[in-house]
Amino acid sequence: MKVDRRFKIGAHMPVSKGFYKVPYETKEIGGNSFQIFNHSPRTWKCSWPNDKEITKFKNSMRDCQINFDNAFVHSGYLVNLASPKDDVWEKSIRLLIEEIKTCELLGLKYLNIHPGSHLGEGEEYGLKRIITALNRVFKVVENSDVIILLENVSPKGGNIGYKFEHLGYIMSEFKGKVAITYDTCHGFDAGYDITTHLGMKKLIEEIEQTVRIENIKMIHLNDSKYPLASAKDRHENIGKGYIGINGFRNFLSFEEFQNIPLILETPGSNLEHAEDIRILQTEILNKI
Ligand SMILES: [Zn+2]
Ligand SMILES: [Zn+2]
Repeated sequence: MKVDRRFKIGAHMPVSKGFYKVPYETKEIGGNSFQIFNHSPRTWKCSWPNDKEITKFKNSMRDCQINFDNAFVHSGYLVNLASPKDDVWEKSIRLLIEEIKTCELLGLKYLNIHPGSHLGEGEEYGLKRIITALNRVFKVVENSDVIILLENVSPKGGNIGYKFEHLGYIMSEFKGKVAITYDTCHGFDAGYDITTHLGMKKLIEEIEQTVRIENIKMIHLNDSKYPLASAKDRHENIGKGYIGINGFRNFLSFEEFQNIPLILETPGSNLEHAEDIRILQTEILNKI
């Protein structure tokens, strides 16, 4: 599909065939931006890319004309910077440091994380634990150019970061390089209604009072399998869930969000994401 250069669009891409394949496959599905895991997300170890893999990846980025500013890494599933369990917390800090170093090797500057879950210890405890962990991480990688993106999450399981107040607090207390990802499904789960004009006005006002729009560096564009404020965290393909085509048209008609990379984390893989991008392009972006 032809890539629409007005918008930055892409999906979470598989890396199983090698990092260098990602830019080519991104083009194939009609994208010009992407997100990846930089190691197996269910393990505590990074597998360092070798020099040859790094060169191949950078060449393919150039070949496909994908800007490094529009390429993102999502941290593994195991990292929990708010964990009250000391062993998990220490391992999370170590893994995040390795993930940052892997980003550096690949020339990728944004690493998206879920702030963490306090697992019942309370939000204040969780927030403090996250800030301490981030400070520990950046003591080790203080000269790194990698920017941590805090993603808003679904309000379940002791999660920190389902509201902007949490993200804003972490941003203000942690002095390192940090910005924000807004996930539309998680936000819908938390009661941010992007399907109405009033809902968008409220969302933008809340963002401006906390993290500020200019700090949002990525949108995770996901429909939601469940209604507003369900707290289920079940992503759906674009237009097939409760946000729907009209909801996304409403969301993306606000120019504040039009210049931010829109990354799909919808069910399926490249084939389904190509279809989601086609729908996003023809039914939503062409009609706003
Ligand atoms: Zn995420
Ligand atoms: Zn997400």
